[in-house]
Amino acid sequence: MDLRFSQSEQEFRHGLRSWLAETIPTLPPRPHRDDWPARRAYDTGWQRGMFDAGYAGVDWPAAHGGLGATPTEQLVFLEETAAARAPYVGANFVGLLHAGPTLVVEGTDAQRARYLPRILRGDDVWCQGFSEPDAGSDLASLRTTAVREGDHYVVNGRKVWTSMAQVADYCELLVRTDPDAPKHRGISWLILPMSTPGVQVRPLRTAGGSSEFSELTLDDVRVPVENLVGAENDGWRVAMVTFSFERGTAFIGEVIDSRNILAEIASIARSTPAPRGGTLWDDAALRRDVGRLTADVHGLWALIRKNVSEAAAGMIPVQGASVFKLRFTESRQKIGDLAAHVLGRSALAMSDLPGLAGGRNGHLVEDRVTTLAYTIAAGTSQIQKNILAERSLGLPKEPRWTSR
Ligand SMILES: Cc1cc2nc3c(=O)[nH]c(=O)nc-3n(C[C@H](O)[C@H](O)[C@H](O)COP(=O)(O)OP(=O)(O)OC[C@H]3O[C@@H](n4cnc5c(N)ncnc54)[C@H](O)[C@@H]3O)c2cc1C
Repeated sequence: MDLRFSQSEQEFRHGLRSWLAETIPTLPPRPHRDDWPARRAYDTGWQRGMFDAGYAGVDWPAAHGGLGATPTEQLVFLEETAAARAPYVGANFVGLLHAGPTLVVEGTDAQRARYLPRILRGDDVWCQGFSEPDAGSDLASLRTTAVREGDHYVVNGRKVWTSMAQVADYCELLVRTDPDAPKHRGISWLILPMSTPGVQVRPLRTAGGSSEFSELTLDDVRVPVENLVGAENDGWRVAMVTFSFERGTAFIGEVIDSRNILAEIASIARSTPAPRGGTLWDDAALRRDVGRLTADVHGLWALIRKNVSEAAAGMIPVQGASVFKLRFTESRQKIGDLAAHVLGRSALAMSDLPGLAGGRNGHLVEDRVTTLAYTIAAGTSQIQKNILAERSLGLPKEPRWTSR
């Protein structure tokens, strides 16, 4: 393991840091959380800026338009963008972090040429149509069907929790192409243009008050056969490729963000009067909680660096994505609880309340509500534990329950 940064990695860091310092002050104000067209424009505008500056697709291979950065440079990229409080990947999440990388590995030359440059430039937004009302953790039970008719598939079914579907141009869609095959074997991975007739998007409201997800209804939707990624009925394997990207990188940038939030919690506690005199920061239990969670976050960052160092040396990290996701998402929720404790009554409002906690409550409350979903999205904590038990620790597989 080698945790030092090389000369070229240091140069990469300094170049990026200066570009961020110049660029971030020139960005327009962030749009309201529920104004999705404005959010799309803001997120794709940021992506375009990164493209023009040569920072788009930092982890994508150079042959496919990315930066071809080493794992350590990718880490430096996440560290610097989070420290500079650069915009989050946002609406570009699915395209950049998993649909694009899946096409790099599994797509045809024609698919790569058509879709990848547009994702990198921020021209197209993608969403993920995997989950269904009766197929979440047990994704292989999905029922949306695709029946081949000439050079099209005719798709019928329902998808749910499709993040950002209301502003997406394309959807990575899992469908059942062979209803008679064992459930993992009859699935295919399709590119669905969201403007196709028969696609209906119904936004669902979250606890955060935003319509981040939608339900998709697919009614005789005709998808060209050329939009099949991988072979027909081999979609489960392609979906595992997608998951390897989704679970591997999704939360890493947020570790740095957590450090910023903990520092903010400490700063609010230092300036908030305690009921019996002094400030909230005089409470040793609170300081201990901040200290413990800060140590957690530093430990997780060290784990990421260890994994990156092992991956760069050609090894498969033992404490991989599932360990990280499990621990990070739980720590992140504890940070939210601590923020609520410090905010007191202002933890009840998602808009800034002048006077209480210095008017800094809004984004902390929004953040807390958002983190409630972290232990569910991209595979629940229980599923991560199953993966670890069965694949890393070699414990027996969980029993298959049959209903009577
Ligand atoms: C913020 C967020 C964004 C999302 N975005 C998308 C998206 O863009 N596209 C998409 O397709 N999906 C998306 N999802 C859906 C997500 O993938 C599912 O919510 C998740 O896989 C869990 O499925 P479920 O909600 O159906 O819960 P269920 O699978 O019904 O699980 C219910 C409970 O049972 C537990 N459980 C289930 N099976 C087992 C088992 N075998 N052993 C032990 N416990 C078990 C689970 O851990 C959970 O606690 C998103 C979810 C969230 C929260």
